[in-house]
Amino acid sequence: MPGIKNAKRIVVKVGTSTLTHATGKTNIKRMQQLVCTLSDLANAGLEIALVTSGAIGVGVGKLGLKARPKDTPGRQAAACVGQCELMFMYDKLFGEYGHTVGQLLITKSDIDNADRRENLINAFDRLFSYGAIPIINENDSVAVEEIVYGDNDNLSAHVAKLIGADALIILTDTDGLFDKDPSLEDARLIPVVDEITDDILALAGGSSTSRGTGGMVTKLLAAQYATAAGISTVVMNGEAPDEIYRLLDGRQVGTFFAAKKD
Ligand code: GLU
Repeated sequence: MPGIKNAKRIVVKVGTSTLTHATGKTNIKRMQQLVCTLSDLANAGLEIALVTSGAIGVGVGKLGLKARPKDTPGRQAAACVGQCELMFMYDKLFGEYGHTVGQLLITKSDIDNADRRENLINAFDRLFSYGAIPIINENDSVAVEEIVYGDNDNLSAHVAKLIGADALIILTDTDGLFDKDPSLEDARLIPVVDEITDDILALAGGSSTSRGTGGMVTKLLAAQYATAAGISTVVMNGEAPDEIYRLLDGRQVGTFFAAKKD
C-alpha cells in the first residue's frame, strides 16, 4: 500500500462511537490513545489534520439529556456544549505531548464558496507551517438543514481534498468493510477495494449506533469521493488507534480503498 506508506499529509477522522461511551461521556482512554499516536506521528514529521465528531454526542452526555434531541435547536445547543468539551480535551491531551491544536468549524458553504475556500486553505496552510494540528468539525451550531454536510465522513473527504492530503483514515467501531453483515459468524473483512461499485455499496447498512450519524454507507461514499480525488482511504477500527503505525508501515489494517490514478 504505497499510498499510505509514503503519506506525508494525513486526514484522520474519528467518530462519536469511538470517542464516547454509551453514556455519552467522553471515552478518556480512547482519546488519550488516539492523541498519543497522532502526536507521535506529528513528531515523526507527518502533517496530521483531525476531523472529529462527537460534539452533539458529548453535549448530550454533558447536559444529562436522555437521548440525542430530535429537533434542530436541541442538536445545535448540544453541539455548542459538546464542542467546548471536545476541544478542552484535545487541547489538554495534545498539550501533554507538546502539541498545539487549532479549531476549524466548517460549514458546507465554506468549502463550496471560492473565496471562503481560499481563506480556509490559507488557514490550514499556516497552521501546518506553524506546526499546529488542525482539528475540524462541522459547525453544528449554525449549519442546519440544507447547508450541512451532515456527516463527518463526507466532511473528512472534502477536507482531505481541500488540503491536498495523501491519505484519509476513517476510524470507526468495526474493523472495516465486511462481505456480509459483520454480526454473522462467517462474515469476512474485505482488505482491499479497488473500485467502489454498486455491489460494494450494497454491502453497507445504515448507522450502527445511536450516538453517531454515519454508518458504513457514508464511509463508502466518503471513500468514493476521496479516492476519485487521488487520495487513498482506509476504514479501520478506532478501538486501537496505535494500529495506525502498522498501517503506515505498509501492513494491512482495516479496508483499504485504492486512490484513482489520473
Ligand atoms: N458534527 C457532528 C458532531 O460533532 C457529527 C456528525 C457525524 O456523526 O458524522 O456531533
